[in-house]
Amino acid sequence: MNQFNRILVVEDEPKVASFVKRGLEENGFSCEIASDGLMGKRMFNAGSYDLIILDLNLPYKNGIELCKEIRVSDQKVPVLMLTALGTTEDKLTGFESGADDYLVKPFEFRELLARIRSLLKRILVAETGGNILTLLDLEVNLSTYEVTRDGKTIELTQKEFALLVYLLRNKGKVVSRMEIAENVWDINFDTGTNIIDVYVNFLRKKMDKDFSQKLIHTQTGVGYILKA
Ligand code: CA
Repeated sequence: MNQFNRILVVEDEPKVASFVKRGLEENGFSCEIASDGLMGKRMFNAGSYDLIILDLNLPYKNGIELCKEIRVSDQKVPVLMLTALGTTEDKLTGFESGADDYLVKPFEFRELLARIRSLLKRILVAETGGNILTLLDLEVNLSTYEVTRDGKTIELTQKEFALLVYLLRNKGKVVSRMEIAENVWDINFDTGTNIIDVYVNFLRKKMDKDFSQKLIHTQTGVGYILKA
């Protein structure tokens, strides 16, 4: 999943910091640690991060101040507050300073991971205007033209991509070769729709062949259907 993978962790407790760093790296993220608020600010200014994890009580500059400063220059980067303080008032202060989520210590790593993934997904959806089509483990991003199955990137030509998007927009419904020809190739032809079969086969090789669950199905005499 990692088009988003640089995470800055601002945390002064070495044990927590290394626990978080190890877990994130095991899950494919790259992670850098700042051990106090000033260092966090410097690293934030110097680097480009996809998500910030901020402890609340930090030397030199606390998490609330740092979060407010981050928000002055960047309104979008997701900020997750990590803290031992868990009263409602603390949470509200965190949210008011611009944090997107809040996790109280002690926490389980998988809880942190779930929050991170959800924050990153929210950003992705916002950036693409929700332009992601999915079916089972297939994901097609209409903004970046990225196609993945089970997280693995699938390289498609422009025509294959257009064909896949058409099938995906009609998922669960049989589409005829004629319909495909008109909508994907923008041409009318009664005969010679052989090209459709050729392209469907290209697509099958790239996105179905290596997976046990096939998504493209032939409806004999009619056309094709994309379904799980
Ligand atoms: Ca602390």
